[in-house]
Amino acid sequence: MKIQQALSHAKSRLIQSESPLLDAELLLAHVLVKSREFLITWPETDLTETEQQAFINLLEQRIIGHPIAHLIGSRAFWNFNLEVSPDVLIPRPETELLVEIILERLDENNLLLADLGTGSGAIALAIASERENWQIVATDLSEAALSIAKQNAKNLKLSNIEFRHGSWTEALEGKKSNEQNKKQNNELFDAIISNPPYIDKTDKHLSQGDVRFEPMQALVAEEKGLADLKQITTNAQKNLKPGAILLLEHGYQQGEVVRQLLEQSGYKEIQTYNDLAGLERVSIGRK
Ligand code: GLN
Repeated sequence: MKIQQALSHAKSRLIQSESPLLDAELLLAHVLVKSREFLITWPETDLTETEQQAFINLLEQRIIGHPIAHLIGSRAFWNFNLEVSPDVLIPRPETELLVEIILERLDENNLLLADLGTGSGAIALAIASERENWQIVATDLSEAALSIAKQNAKNLKLSNIEFRHGSWTEALEGKKSNEQNKKQNNELFDAIISNPPYIDKTDKHLSQGDVRFEPMQALVAEEKGLADLKQITTNAQKNLKPGAILLLEHGYQQGEVVRQLLEQSGYKEIQTYNDLAGLERVSIGRK
């Protein structure tokens, strides 16, 4: 079987997918350890028996719904590839908006930022890679997620990131008994960013597509998806410097309520940004 035949066979079997050719190319490029450009340039290349079998195995898993990112173990975000596994949310293109807003809003040197619930590390790593003189603290409640984020930081050779384990702002505070952490207690941030879980548990999207294979704790929140957004808006105040910003990703129908949450917690200059699909996706407030 040649590259071209393998791709057209896969494309015809991936009828459920929104992007059958792209899926086929990503899987085949992964098996051959080549770029997608290689596949397009060399369609007549023969696959070995082993390559063909490996490709068919991945294709079968894709057909039953496994996300491409899980099958190839990575996902492109910002201008790099991140390792991902079923322990972390697969980074979404709309989440790049948070990175863009931070880079546009903050231009001083030596700032201290926190990314709460970092997952694969996507937001924290993108910011850290663009601003090497900033310090980023990236947190997660999941140890498994933190170890993936740490691996990604290592792969990208980024050292201006510190990882902390814990729930939302609790992870920033540390244990009160220890000297080192006492110091951290006084630590105030120039910005706190988060893409928390915000989907309601009865949302029908949870039974469709890639999300079926992603960690529920990264997707679903109590109180119609608002519980974690509420907790963060309420608690982040004490970890922010005066004038610092809180930036949150949220569901496309949660803009109004997130603006209210920010207002109730005393934030000023509250504003919502739309994602590329024109949907309210990210809200910001200033302490
Ligand atoms: N935007 C994601 C989705 O709709 C959800 C991410 C999240 O809950 N933080 O699948």
